[in-house]
Amino acid sequence: MAEQDPTESDFQEVDTPAVEPELNPPETFAHALMEIAAEQHVSDLFISDQPDATVIRMRRMGRLREVRRLPLPYGRRLLNHFRALAGIDIADLSRPADGRARFRLEDRRELDVRFAVLPTVTGQDMAMRLFDHSRGLIGLDDIGFLEEERAMVERLLSAPSGLILVAGPAGCGKTNSLYAFLNHLNNGQRKIHTLEEPIEYLLPGINQSQVNVRGGLDFADLLYGCMRQSPDVIMVGEIRDRRTAETAIRAGTGGQLVLATVHAQTAPTAVQNMLAFQVNRHFLADALVGVLNQRLVRQLCTACRRLGAMPQGAQEDQTYYDAVGCDACKEEGYERMTCIPEILEINKPLTQAIVRGVSADELSDIAAQEGLLSMARGAMARITSGVVTPEDAAYVISDPQVRAIATYAMDARRQDDADSAEVA
Ligand SMILES: [Zn+2]
Repeated sequence: MAEQDPTESDFQEVDTPAVEPELNPPETFAHALMEIAAEQHVSDLFISDQPDATVIRMRRMGRLREVRRLPLPYGRRLLNHFRALAGIDIADLSRPADGRARFRLEDRRELDVRFAVLPTVTGQDMAMRLFDHSRGLIGLDDIGFLEEERAMVERLLSAPSGLILVAGPAGCGKTNSLYAFLNHLNNGQRKIHTLEEPIEYLLPGINQSQVNVRGGLDFADLLYGCMRQSPDVIMVGEIRDRRTAETAIRAGTGGQLVLATVHAQTAPTAVQNMLAFQVNRHFLADALVGVLNQRLVRQLCTACRRLGAMPQGAQEDQTYYDAVGCDACKEEGYERMTCIPEILEINKPLTQAIVRGVSADELSDIAAQEGLLSMARGAMARITSGVVTPEDAAYVISDPQVRAIATYAMDARRQDDADSAEVA
């Protein structure tokens, strides 16, 4: 690798780098960029033209960081190189476009990349989503469930038929969780189909079909077709229209186990959002087995995490941990991403509430009485046992208790920093 190519140390940089002088051919640079992105488990790369430079940023463990600033003409050549690789028209810069490419890395690893480009006032913005196949298939153990949560998820997945919804905002790991569920169900005795857009990982022993909206093939069409293939389990990438919602519910009441994502911020609103598609509430209540809603957060490195100072009058079980940084975690203080889930298991009182047509708030109240595993509870359990920092939990969850301990932790660290500055 030539000197000017990106190196490991470039990606550790925190300060905004200056625009760089002449560099290697874009092909060499692009390949080096992919090697490092795969090595560091980067989830997204962004190349954006700004008025004075083409900026490369990456998202790793949920955090966005600027890593390079390239001269605009060089940036244009790099973007053209990626466009060509992804099969995107180089001549027409006036329209959004998308494509894919596969990179063969050293040690024979393969990296699949999904590209999307958008014209901007300063040039182009290219987003690349990275899928590293060497990371292997995800199981229920890899998601980060606590014992009680895992038991409830397994109970939901043991239902012979019905509808299981996975909710949460974009980038909260819904697809990962669905793949883990499929992996758990894929014991050779079930016929499993997935309807995806796009297919992110190939799953051995599972029939995967890709939605092609531009080609006139949507989730509902595929789902109709799929039901004739006598499946036991169907995974629907996303329910986003009435036809798909109705068909998924029909499959769920008709003997199949349907797993689907739906756009919602909480488990009870996932139910309401299904009803907003104007599906029959009796059928939905009948089909629904449970809802998983989740957020992704950074998991503390167990080798270096440090017990945080305790607030005055705090109870003994209100411990929390701070991130430190060591060799094992490349001085970052975090190991990987983990989840904080909210899990709703539908029982008789909840079924009756859905049939009655209660509001999302009422449904939340009933769910709380009926054993909902709330996100706040999940967050506090992870804070006190040192899985996540209070700040990271507060970053993704709005809950007074979590916010209070996060505020305390931030104040304590500020005090700590001030004290050590005084000593120095
Ligand atoms: Zn560490």
